[in-house]
Amino acid sequence: MPSVYTHYKFARDAFDFLSEGLKEAVQAGRKFYDTGQSGADLLFYYKPHKSNDLRKHGSALHRIKADVLFSEFKKRAYESGNKEADIAYLTGYFTHFILDSTMHPYIWRCEEEKIAPHFVIEADYDRKLMLRDGVNPYNAKFLAFQVNDGEVREICSRYLSCTPKQAGEIMRSRVKFTNLISSQNSLLRGFLKFLFKISSNPKGNEILIPRQDVEACADISPRLDDLYAQALEDIKIYAKEFEDFLLREGSLGQRFAKDFE
Ligand SMILES: [Zn+2]
Repeated sequence: MPSVYTHYKFARDAFDFLSEGLKEAVQAGRKFYDTGQSGADLLFYYKPHKSNDLRKHGSALHRIKADVLFSEFKKRAYESGNKEADIAYLTGYFTHFILDSTMHPYIWRCEEEKIAPHFVIEADYDRKLMLRDGVNPYNAKFLAFQVNDGEVREICSRYLSCTPKQAGEIMRSRVKFTNLISSQNSLLRGFLKFLFKISSNPKGNEILIPRQDVEACADISPRLDDLYAQALEDIKIYAKEFEDFLLREGSLGQRFAKDFE
């Protein structure tokens, strides 16, 4: 969930490796691609301080196999009045799937082996990528790529089962929440840690952006770099298959026969 920057950077890098048909759609509707690359993670920002159906739906969408999910999504795209925009959005969602399904199994294994918790790993890696790219990891300014307008809200509602109004709320909430968890103000951090402790989500403090590199993640980050590169390779290999599926009658093969976890 906190790996917003990782997904955004990945989608930006992946663009160069997309097949021509997908590239064209993305060029015509970049804001839809930039929204789709967040996948169902967006739903985690709906009233993030409490458990609710939309957040649960965000998790559920991660547990559906990609070929099943994209087949359903393709139907909705063809029923929509602006298919081009939907193609751009779903191309972004495709990059989300490739990265999630490449990195998550390793991240879960690190958590199981008690090397570091899932969210700590993702927060640490997000911060490292931002620092490498000269982006400030301690505020939400990097979220400037997010376009919260009527067209984007409508497309979110079609694929994330929320209303356009909720989609707008979610995007505003993502900015607020990111500012909170990335702030280095010690008073605010102390207060947040206290809130998480007494809340129904005691693991919440794991998503706070750390001040420095997390020691437990020292050996994990280079491995994540490798997986990131491997995922980019997969974009190169599978973009055309995804294009043939989305734009024509092609079907999705083995790479898509897994969920996002
Ligand atoms: Zn995800």
